Amino acid sequence: FVKIADVRKTFRGRQVLNGVSMDINAGEVVVILGPSGSGKTTLLRTINHLEQIDAGEILVNGKLVGYRRTSRGVVPVRSAAAARRDARIGFVFQHFNLFDHMTVLQNIMEAPVRVYGRDARDARREARALLDWAGLSGFENHYPHQLSGGQQQRVAIVRALACHPRLMLFDEPTSALDPELVGQVLSLIRELAELGMTMIVVTHEMGFARACADRVIYMEGGVVVEEGAPDEIFSNPRDQRTRRFLQIIH
Ligand code: ATP
Repeated sequence: FVKIADVRKTFRGRQVLNGVSMDINAGEVVVILGPSGSGKTTLLRTINHLEQIDAGEILVNGKLVGYRRTSRGVVPVRSAAAARRDARIGFVFQHFNLFDHMTVLQNIMEAPVRVYGRDARDARREARALLDWAGLSGFENHYPHQLSGGQQQRVAIVRALACHPRLMLFDEPTSALDPELVGQVLSLIRELAELGMTMIVVTHEMGFARACADRVIYMEGGVVVEEGAPDEIFSNPRDQRTRRFLQIIH
């Protein structure tokens, strides 16, 4: 469902993605682990075309996101926003990134109505149902600053789901949260996994990775070092770099 082939990305001469390849099946939950600076965030951002790539190819559901093939090769499309809209990829950020001046309901309805042209009444009904699912009924008219971090992140997840994504990307979704709020966010992500959503989750939450991931990918230095089933990676990492990382993080 997601095909990432030899993707390279440089920031000011510094190679951040060094030829990353991975294939992700529909319905699969992939957890990406790796030390700070290994390129995890950059990789997620390239999948959703929040960053352009220098080389390689990313296909989601058989289509290039943000690029088109021409006789001169693959070139970026003119509108990155349109590319993102059409790709239907949900993105959940480490720091929630809600619109501060909008209520919870407005946050959730903004993209369905303005970007996808959905009927406002439909979008509102669906937003309320999703909020209920996320345990946030009654918070429709709150502003983000009136919510806990865990509640804000759950709103961010609902906001992404309101656009009917076919793929969800999570970038360290719980690392900005107080420890007691982590569980409520992870259990929501876990429910999504059980519903069959295709997801790529960058996280340091090993318990979550063990319980939810179909596959764990370890990245370091802008490359995939090792990948496998959670049991394999956690109990019997083959690469010394993976072993060292797991020792530090446990
Ligand atoms: P972390 O866990 O700290 O978020 P990461 O594995 O997600 O790490 P990235 O955020 O992808 O790593 O960053 C990889 C490297 O690329 C870092 O050294 C970072 O400073 C650099 N980098 C990322 N974005 C940019 C940018 N827009 N301009 C310049 N350098 C960048």
